[in-house]
Amino acid sequence: MKNIAVIIETDVSKSGREEVKEICFGMITIAREKNCELFAFVINADIQALKPDLKSFGIANILDIVLESDLQYNPVVRAKAMVKAVEKFHIDAVFGLCTPMGKDLLPRMAAQLDAPLVMGCIDVDLQPDSHTKNCLAKTLQYSGKAIATIKTRGNIPIFGVKPNAVKPVKAQTDTRILRFDGIDLDATKLKLIQTGRNDKSADINLSEADIIIAGGRGMKNPENFTTLFKCAKILNASVGASRVAVDEGWVPYSMQVGQTGEKVNPKVYIACGISGSIQHFAGMKTSQMVIAINSDKDAPIMSNSDYYVVADALEVIPELTKLLSSTQPKAANLPNYGVGNKF
Ligand SMILES: Cc1cc2nc3c(=O)[nH]c(=O)nc-3n(C[C@H](O)[C@H](O)[C@H](O)COP(=O)(O)OP(=O)(O)OC[C@H]3O[C@@H](n4cnc5c(N)ncnc54)[C@H](O)[C@@H]3O)c2cc1C
Repeated sequence: MKNIAVIIETDVSKSGREEVKEICFGMITIAREKNCELFAFVINADIQALKPDLKSFGIANILDIVLESDLQYNPVVRAKAMVKAVEKFHIDAVFGLCTPMGKDLLPRMAAQLDAPLVMGCIDVDLQPDSHTKNCLAKTLQYSGKAIATIKTRGNIPIFGVKPNAVKPVKAQTDTRILRFDGIDLDATKLKLIQTGRNDKSADINLSEADIIIAGGRGMKNPENFTTLFKCAKILNASVGASRVAVDEGWVPYSMQVGQTGEKVNPKVYIACGISGSIQHFAGMKTSQMVIAINSDKDAPIMSNSDYYVVADALEVIPELTKLLSSTQPKAANLPNYGVGNKF
């Protein structure tokens, strides 16, 4: 029997309740295999609130990691605590997410454990054969044009799973809670001076978003991006951008999607005034549904989208926002845009 750890990320719902981030369930689905026992690693969270969801996805053990430190959000501190938990519970493999937290945490854990690390996994086989401890991980390469199968050798492989890579599948089990505290973090040699909110940060991270609404040169100026933010708020979406919008200084680089920006994997990607260059496409081609709003019916994004609207995005976005914010949207209120789909 293998002990498998999954590192859980949490969010606070609109009702103020702590909950497991949706993107964790796909990761758990990938990590769950027969002859394996799942340990959910959760730091300083409301375990009772998280338990029903973790139980319904086959987590046998919830490890309640208690960090009494001002630096509880610091990746150096978190990595140390996680490594101690891995050692104490004889963990054979670790799964985390390719989110900002995972990208900070997993390489540090791999370095401390001298463990093999594969980031960007879309699938993992923990037991390809019965003779070795080797595992196989699949990752996307060359902007998603190829799939690589990577064999890990050595103990405690660590896998960073791409959000939304697979559909979550439930599997009820009995779940117990284990408390893990008293972790000595003196050795981190860090002292927290101050924390404060960065008003420029996006509310929902691009790599985790289920819905992204992105703007390009067609948005014309930074003021028009505020219409995207308004629409995103109603859709519970994150706002992305093409490189042109970033290079023009309309939005920060952290919002850039593409080959030299963020690689995203949302359920819905709405591209507004974006032509669909190869470099932009490289960052969003794995979106489950692409909707394009462009004034040029021949723009490359149109033939790479599931649905498109031939129209001025500066007119459509405010109309859409108005419709979405009304309780009973009426399609008949929409102006007569050219609408199509590729099917
Ligand atoms: C090495 C390299 C790396 C790169 N990396 C990236 C990257 O990571 N991400 C990225 O995005 N780009 C990247 N680029 C740049 C890329 O080649 C394109 O230049 C860029 O994606 C184009 O951005 P855009 O679609 O916003 O602008 P454009 O290509 O100029 O397209 C603007 C679109 O808006 C439409 N439009 C105009 N007005 C309106 C309106 N009112 N309503 C609706 N539609 C309108 C136009 O019809 C047009 O299709 C990279 C380039 C290189 C060489």
